[in-house]
Amino acid sequence: MTPVRAVLFDLDGTLHDRNATVQGWLSGHMERFGLPAGYAERFTELDDYGYRPKREVFPILIGEFGLLHDSDSLLDDYQSQLLAAPHLMAHALDVLTRLNANSIQTGIVTNGLTGWTGAQALCIERLGLTPLFDTVLNSVNIGFSKPDPRIYTLALERLGVSAAETWFVGDSPKNDVWGPQQVGMRAAFLPTGHALSGETPDAVLNDLRDVLQLEGLAVPA
Ligand SMILES: [Mg+2]
Repeated sequence: MTPVRAVLFDLDGTLHDRNATVQGWLSGHMERFGLPAGYAERFTELDDYGYRPKREVFPILIGEFGLLHDSDSLLDDYQSQLLAAPHLMAHALDVLTRLNANSIQTGIVTNGLTGWTGAQALCIERLGLTPLFDTVLNSVNIGFSKPDPRIYTLALERLGVSAAETWFVGDSPKNDVWGPQQVGMRAAFLPTGHALSGETPDAVLNDLRDVLQLEGLAVPA
């Protein structure tokens, strides 16, 4: 069995508890705009764990709830307030500290957002993750996105490790399980978002602490 030398992580839904961040923002947003009951739940559905562009979401909400608000002002509130106080995923700090202490290399591989290219960098900074990682790959700066195999290969090159020595950890079945496996990495699925649909992760995590128990990773608990 090849010893593991690196772990790559997705950001949203993996290191960033985006669901918690969205719920926190929604309570302030509802108050600031005097929005009706049911709006927060409907936003959460339409948002699709962040995958649906908000430029589409707010006009739908305005239509469905018969709101008189302007969709640009709702969108501005989202972009200016969502990441005011982002939530770190449970156990992220402890797990990353232990990986660092055991000389396991770490990286973030994240897809940027259409229309809000600064979001990922801001989120990483506010979560305090920068000093815990050897490399950060943001599709916005690189020119290709997960699941394009080039982004995973570039991450391996930057860390100087092989695919066989690396686990990928994330919540997207396509981008964080299927994609990394195509270049030969093992993939650990953290089910905080979309369900698997035919993808076969090499491990399924209950929470981030399980990263320390992945096959080939000898990190004392
Ligand atoms: Mg994600």
